[in-house]
Amino acid sequence: ELSRPETDTQTPKDSTVELHDVHFGYGETEVLHGVNLTFRAGTVNALVGPSGSGKSTIAKLIASFWDVGSGSITVGGADIRNISAEHYHRLVAYVSQDNFLFDNTVRENIRMCRPGATDAEVEQAARNCGCYDFIMGLENGFDTVVGSGGGHLSGGEKQRISIARAMLKDAPVVILDEATAYTDPENEAIIQESVAKLVRGKTLIVIAHRLSTIVDADQIVVVNEGKIEATGGQAELVGKCQLYRTLWNAHIASRDSAEGGADRA
Ligand code: ADP
Repeated sequence: ELSRPETDTQTPKDSTVELHDVHFGYGETEVLHGVNLTFRAGTVNALVGPSGSGKSTIAKLIASFWDVGSGSITVGGADIRNISAEHYHRLVAYVSQDNFLFDNTVRENIRMCRPGATDAEVEQAARNCGCYDFIMGLENGFDTVVGSGGGHLSGGEKQRISIARAMLKDAPVVILDEATAYTDPENEAIIQESVAKLVRGKTLIVIAHRLSTIVDADQIVVVNEGKIEATGGQAELVGKCQLYRTLWNAHIASRDSAEGGADRA
């Protein structure tokens, strides 16, 4: 249970997100050991690092799933513990393939983060995210009820609905947990296009599993064993960070073998 004021006791000045000496553990075991980071307003930031290094934990703390053990997280200079839950919810959108859908219609699932949105706005958000056609193909279109967990929708379709939801919400800070794999390339292309529209002008923090995101990022953060190993741009990190070079070379190798596989096919 998070304790938040009814109304803000501090006002965020912009959408810059900062972590100040953040420590955090699940139960007894500390998994983040003094993390300091700045994600400047309007920039694209990628979190990379080995599995289990703490990337999702950082993302979820910023999304306010839990409170930090010690240290603080600020948005626009305001400690997130001084911002009302309702306001914080409007400031930050968290998008992942696991975002579960609620037992309700597709329409209400998209609308849920902005209850005042009109049907036309919901449908426009769906169009922008390349969801419109597959939704219209469902039994009852936008009025089709999807079960908890998303019923019979594919992972890619769920991700697209959750992107449409975030787009309608129009939050200034977007946290994106990229899916590691998609079943079909067409779906992946649609998702990448939708994400590009969603994040324009926003502060984006992405847990990056794909090369394309990393190359274009304003800042890449290399996370290792609950600490920040290095930060910088692509070329800078290739030059100065051994762990990043290793991750980068693995990306290149897997991309080349995927392309080689496609050539042979
Ligand atoms: P990454 O996103 O880089 O793969 P995580 O942030 O998910 O890393 O995990 C960091 C560490 O915290 C790992 O040791 C992981 O096992 C642990 N961890 C993650 N989520 C939980 C949880 N809900 N309960 C207990 N330990 C967790």
